[in-house]
Amino acid sequence: MLRKILIANRGEIAVRIIRACAEMGIRSVAIYSEADRFALHVKKADESYCIGSEPMSGYLNIYALVNLAAATGCDAIHPGYGFLSENALFAKACKERGLIFIGPEAEVIHRMGDKTEARKAMVAAGIPVTPGSEGNLESVEEALEVAESIGYPIMLKATSGGGGRGIRRCDNAEELQRNYSRVISEATKAFGSADVFLEKCIVNPKHIEVQVLADHHGNAIHLYERDCSIQRRNQKLIEIAPSPQLDEAQRQYIGGLAVIAAKSVGYTNAGTVEFLLDDNDRFYFMEMNTRVQVEHTITETVTGVDIVEEQIRIAAGLPLRFKQHEIVRRGYAIQFRVNAEDPKNSFLPSFGKITRYYAPGGPGVRTDTAIYTGYEIPPFYDSMVAKVIVNALTWEDAIQRGERALKDMGLFGIKTTIPYYLQILKHPEFRTACFNTGFVEKHSELINYSNKPRPEVLASVIAAAMASHTGL
Ligand code: ADP
Ligand code: ADP
Ligand code: MG
Repeated sequence: MLRKILIANRGEIAVRIIRACAEMGIRSVAIYSEADRFALHVKKADESYCIGSEPMSGYLNIYALVNLAAATGCDAIHPGYGFLSENALFAKACKERGLIFIGPEAEVIHRMGDKTEARKAMVAAGIPVTPGSEGNLESVEEALEVAESIGYPIMLKATSGGGGRGIRRCDNAEELQRNYSRVISEATKAFGSADVFLEKCIVNPKHIEVQVLADHHGNAIHLYERDCSIQRRNQKLIEIAPSPQLDEAQRQYIGGLAVIAAKSVGYTNAGTVEFLLDDNDRFYFMEMNTRVQVEHTITETVTGVDIVEEQIRIAAGLPLRFKQHEIVRRGYAIQFRVNAEDPKNSFLPSFGKITRYYAPGGPGVRTDTAIYTGYEIPPFYDSMVAKVIVNALTWEDAIQRGERALKDMGLFGIKTTIPYYLQILKHPEFRTACFNTGFVEKHSELINYSNKPRPEVLASVIAAAMASHTGL
């Protein structure tokens, strides 16, 4: 088993990995920028090292991180999600330094991180993919030609894109012409690559993704699917496991397809195969994420499998502990990404000091976060500040529990997406499990909730009333 792991990340996922290490008797090493000096992962790890004054560059400095891991006697690096997690050069640098990269082989990261290469690999494996350009587009003329042949609307996408960015829908040739250079410049800025491709736009699809685990002994299993259709601008907001919109036959089919996909590319460790499901109940491969995902929590909740622990065990060379038939699901889990954003103000980031925080509790509630009362959220990173995960035996009960937990949570000093989620939970289409990736845009009226006075404001009103009463 591994003895010491460097966690090349920050925030809630760093804390999540530290927790897995603690339970497995593995020492954890945290890294932090100057801006993260007071971050929770720094306090919770067994050892912590400052990796520079600049907010981002230290977390992305491959050679500094590999050197630090070696110098501190680590035998492995866990990359978390974001940052270097899907960087093949990082995985390669770890290996060259004699360190275990907790993820798949560098070549597999490289291949699956490139969306056009991944599409080619899936076609070869017999997995259905959306019709689209064969590889990257060479020119706007080629783009127009391909679009014409597959028919509008199309999606123009950055080949190395992620996090919902670098994707534009084009409904006609003019839009494609206009967006072509935009997506290229977005992709260059965000991902350091100008490569773009296009595929058919599936109108209002469901986003269904399957969690897979594969070891170094040829075993691969899936942990069923998640429904991530509740998105805003291609970014997930609420995730559900299993999908309340699939029947059992679809569930078995898509799980099996994901395992074939993983095996066909020699995948190892935890990964996610993302599909789109159209109105005619057809699934299309979209992309594979070669890392732990933000929403791995809900799969853990319904299957009982600790995905981060399995990642570490697989990286250590151990065979999978479970056979496919041993994976059982129970009930439904929902994850809410609590973002420091103001829904009423175009979801503008709302960073600042957390004046008071208490986690929701009670049965069926899990909170993954790195915030605490008095913590000042730095403006340099992701706006996601907490994940609230609830579970219950039925879909209806999971919704009720979600509502209760979100109200149960105390988070003051910043604006968050919580009041908006409470509106979504009330919506009949959500409650009857009938939604797709168009839900948020279609129901823009859900932003019009009233800002109720916060409990602390109410408390002062009540206190004033009591004072005047006793004064009588
Ligand atoms: P998930 O697929 O786990 O749901 P997201 O797409 O929400 O994850 O991304 C999780 C985090 O990783 C976000 O901070 C996002 O910005 C970042 N991220 C994902 N892909 C990339 C990428 N290709 N380049 C840079 N950052 C990325
Ligand atoms: P990322 O790497 O940023 O996660 P994805 O390729 O997974 O990018 O796409 C993100 C989201 O964009 C999907 O969940 C879906 O809502 C939307 N999307 C992507 N491709 C298509 C498509 N061909 N048709 C319709 N929606 C799409
Ligand atoms: Mg995706």
